[in-house]
Amino acid sequence: MTTGDIHRIIIIGAGQAGAETAQRLRQGGFAGEITLIGEEPQAPYQRPPLSKAYLKGEYGIERLLLRPASVYAEEQVSLLTPCRAVWVDRTNKKVRVEGGRELPYDALVLATGARPRKLTLAGADLDGVFLFRTAADVDAVRPRFIKGAKLVVIGAGYIGLEVAAVARTLGLDVTVIESAVRPLARVTSPEVAGFFLDEHTRQGVRFVLGGQPALIKGNDAVTGVSLADGMEIPADIVIAGIGVTPETTLAQQCGLTVENGILTDRHCRTADPSIFAIGDCASRPIQHYEDRVCRLESVHNAVEGGRMVAAAITGKDYPEETPWFWSDQYDLKLQIAGLFQGYDKIVLRGALEDRAFAAFYYQGPRLIAVDAVNRPGEFLGAKMLIQKGKTISPDVLTDLSRPMKELVAAAN
Ligand code: NAP
Repeated sequence: MTTGDIHRIIIIGAGQAGAETAQRLRQGGFAGEITLIGEEPQAPYQRPPLSKAYLKGEYGIERLLLRPASVYAEEQVSLLTPCRAVWVDRTNKKVRVEGGRELPYDALVLATGARPRKLTLAGADLDGVFLFRTAADVDAVRPRFIKGAKLVVIGAGYIGLEVAAVARTLGLDVTVIESAVRPLARVTSPEVAGFFLDEHTRQGVRFVLGGQPALIKGNDAVTGVSLADGMEIPADIVIAGIGVTPETTLAQQCGLTVENGILTDRHCRTADPSIFAIGDCASRPIQHYEDRVCRLESVHNAVEGGRMVAAAITGKDYPEETPWFWSDQYDLKLQIAGLFQGYDKIVLRGALEDRAFAAFYYQGPRLIAVDAVNRPGEFLGAKMLIQKGKTISPDVLTDLSRPMKELVAAAN
């Protein structure tokens, strides 16, 4: 399939990845048909504020939209929402949507995202128990976020900690239950996780680490959570932030390879040259990490996927960027550059007690990642170095009298 053969593109999934693909295709000069199919009713919106400003009630859905809803018609992108794609026919290159309509494609982009894991406990369907993925989820929970309400959050990942921070700011009584022995275990080191644990504890959040929720109690509405060891925690609201599973139903149905996400090459192309997969639902080799195959759950990865697909289809180059992530909790901005997995050494620049520091992760002499808390210069500097395959000697990092810019300039 060459770029000249592509006249009709269908994008399944109208989240950040899908929306970026449509926008970049038009910006890259693709003049054919683009159909963007989304399950949720709204035009594509950003999820990060859901567990931050949107939950706080600081603004409404219109501020969440990635672009004004009118843009899609202006750019001649057919936005089909709410609409579910239910079948992919690879032989005849057609997508069937709910209701039976069939849409032909020359190129198909799967940007189907991920589904929040559901609690499988008895009582998980009681009134007052919530998942946290969509604007509708947050709309349902927000009226209950009132001062003094007892909130139990299950899972101490990004959702758990960001929701806990908002809840404490609004004066709720908050307990976080995490099955691992520390928070943020999937995304950072024990040192940085310990810092966030201390900060939340100082803000009045109670933690049950290594906790196994066994039952959600209540008759009609939730009244508490029982743990396997017999502990009981009263609750008016329970929010589960226990991770996600990639949405790969369509990919599996049409016989694409799925291994922790839909498997693609570096350019987000599956084994079927007409089908791409991007965002939370896809796994691909990451150039800056020796082509290690990763499924990254981040805005940057969603945006980058959209840009890569648009570049591939319009015949342009796309220089892959260092993966990056962020999280806001209270007045703390955590910015992560790179992938820390596999580090053998960690060096702190700045002190945890100053609430402004950066943890640099090394594999041998090589800088592989940084977690920066309220230190944007360290984040930006490290991101650029990883991108260029450069490293900083760990010995110079601890000297705060030497600005990050100077260390970056001297890196090799
Ligand atoms: P997550 O970051 O994977 O964290 C889920 C946590 O819940 C893990 O620590 C997990 O431990 C724990 N857990 C799993 N089952 C549990 C159980 N039954 N009881 C207690 N703890 C349990 O996922 P998330 O926080 O739910 O976030 C969902 C998605 O939204 C992710 O893709 C995340 O990246 C995204 N998100 C990102 C941001 C951000 O980047 N700032 C903010 C919000 C959401 P185990 O690992 O041991 O199972």
